[in-house]
Amino acid sequence: MPSIAGAPRGDGPVAVRISGLWKRFGEQIAVAGIDLTLPAGQFIGLVGPNGAGKTTTLSMVTGLLRPDVGRVEIAGHDVWQDPVAVKARIGVLPEGLRMFERLSGRELLSYTGRLRGLDGDEVDKRATQLLDVLDLAGAQHKLVVDYSTGMRKKIGLAAALLHNPEVLFLDEPFEGVDPVSAQSIRGVLERYTASGATVVISSHVMALVESLCDWVAVMAGGSIRAHGPVAEVRGASPTLHEAFLELVGAQDRDRAHHLDWLGGTR
Ligand code: ATP
Repeated sequence: MPSIAGAPRGDGPVAVRISGLWKRFGEQIAVAGIDLTLPAGQFIGLVGPNGAGKTTTLSMVTGLLRPDVGRVEIAGHDVWQDPVAVKARIGVLPEGLRMFERLSGRELLSYTGRLRGLDGDEVDKRATQLLDVLDLAGAQHKLVVDYSTGMRKKIGLAAALLHNPEVLFLDEPFEGVDPVSAQSIRGVLERYTASGATVVISSHVMALVESLCDWVAVMAGGSIRAHGPVAEVRGASPTLHEAFLELVGAQDRDRAHHLDWLGGTR
């Protein structure tokens, strides 16, 4: 059985500790009191249906959105009390990332590297390698505003990795990304976690989470429904996809029969 309700577990090193996290937008409770401890050195998936609260949670965890109540610690530092220490240790690819669009991909990485306090030669070296591995070398002098959705994800990922963070947070990193680019992103992330770093991704794509992640947290209605190693959360279900549908209480497909006018005589 997966652990229920996100209670802390295990004695290994901790990457992220979330305690009593709440966020409400007017009448809408987006995040309803999350307690969750994410193990370090793992590839972690945060999954849930549309509106589950994944983006709101990741935004609060990474210091982009202030929680109504609750605490988040990353690598032992409090996100809201000690933001500089936290920001030095994390990389973030948020949803709908706004970038400096009038810079080229290469300029964006140079600028990001300097902001991170890296030496110019080191930034150039890392930028060249990242552009190459992510298959962006040919587009490095093109303005970011002219990049496709997938290229934007890749340059955003390169910018998030440039300072070699301890923990990387990626909101839907594979959305709008073609299979070839997805493969290069996977390669980078697998190498990164193999070195002991932690990756946290949000995704709806269960097959991808199952093949990529070691550990998963399932969210629905602002709460954590289950968490733990992927095999544990999958339990007796044949696939994570099926376990997920059970955990989030998927609606009956037969409800579509109510649309009796759809496809009828016009
Ligand atoms: P998706 O997979 O569709 O991106 P999600 O799991 O990331 O969904 P959130 O974007 O975190 O979900 O949204 C959780 C809930 O909070 C939703 O009901 C959403 O409408 C609401 N919400 C999120 N941001 C805001 C906001 N800025 N103002 C009002 N409501 C919001």
